[in-house]
Amino acid sequence: MEIRTIGVVGGGQMGSGIAQVSLMSGFNVVLNDVSDEILGKSRAVIGKGLDILVRKEKITAGDRTRMAENLRTTRNLSDFSSCDFVVEAATEREDLKLSLFRELDASVPAGNILATNTSSLSITRIASVTARPDKVIGMHFMNPVPMMKLIEVVRGVRTSTETFDRTMELARTLGKEPVPANDFPGFVANRILLPMINEAVYALMEGVGKAEDIDAIMRMGANHPMGPLALADLIGLDTCLEILKVLQEELGDPKYRPCPLLRKTVEAGHLGKKTGRGFYVYDRA
Ligand code: NAD
Repeated sequence: MEIRTIGVVGGGQMGSGIAQVSLMSGFNVVLNDVSDEILGKSRAVIGKGLDILVRKEKITAGDRTRMAENLRTTRNLSDFSSCDFVVEAATEREDLKLSLFRELDASVPAGNILATNTSSLSITRIASVTARPDKVIGMHFMNPVPMMKLIEVVRGVRTSTETFDRTMELARTLGKEPVPANDFPGFVANRILLPMINEAVYALMEGVGKAEDIDAIMRMGANHPMGPLALADLIGLDTCLEILKVLQEELGDPKYRPCPLLRKTVEAGHLGKKTGRGFYVYDRA
């Protein structure tokens, strides 16, 4: 079946980006979140993203208008009955994702694929709460979605080859480069990235260096485009903490224990760029 309408659950930084690239590739998008205020903000973020493309002359003003018109927002997952393919990008919490997948399974036509953008959680377990485990898959976009090429495509134990092939094809249609990874906690990207970020937070907590200096050393010394603490702020410190908890619990190795400073910063509500403060302070205007 041809994919014409993509459903996106969660209008945060990842969901907004996934909606934007889907609109840019000519799809209709139905975007779901819990409040009209969040959906309004998400629509504004997507609008700004499209404006940048008009300014760079990558799309015309007419394209921008058409793309914005192809976006529908809703607080009700029952509106996903028109979706041919769904990408879930809500907050990284297993209980939430399991309940969303039960709801999606009831709302989205039975033959259609349900993908999750989870950073770390078991695709197999998420699939198991649905009546279509063969049609559930991990589609792990990178942040910021409009700029980053990679999508990690993760098969659960029961994901079918057809679902995998169709998801790889959709990723390419979105202008991305899909790479497969197996269903282990954190897959490949976060299995390697998050221990590095966690170690940088330990280095900060133990006074090995100031935040700016830790980041400068890793940028210039390891040739990373941004330092690990700035990257953690970009990802969201709540998301980083959740991923580390999954790695620690699921792999059972204390080497993944989240740094107490990371926990404390999240408890303070300093979640990084999205709240205006994390390891750095940001101008939210
Ligand atoms: P975010 O905090 O920016 O956004 C999460 C959104 O989910 C919020 O708008 C929230 O209101 C919404 N939400 C919560 N409960 C919901 C519900 N019941 N129904 C619908 N929406 C709900 O987080 P994010 O950074 O966009 O991350 C979203 C997902 O993408 C997570 O699974 C995360 O692990 C994953 N991810 C994040 C990154 C990153 O760098 N931030 C990268 C790849 C994948």
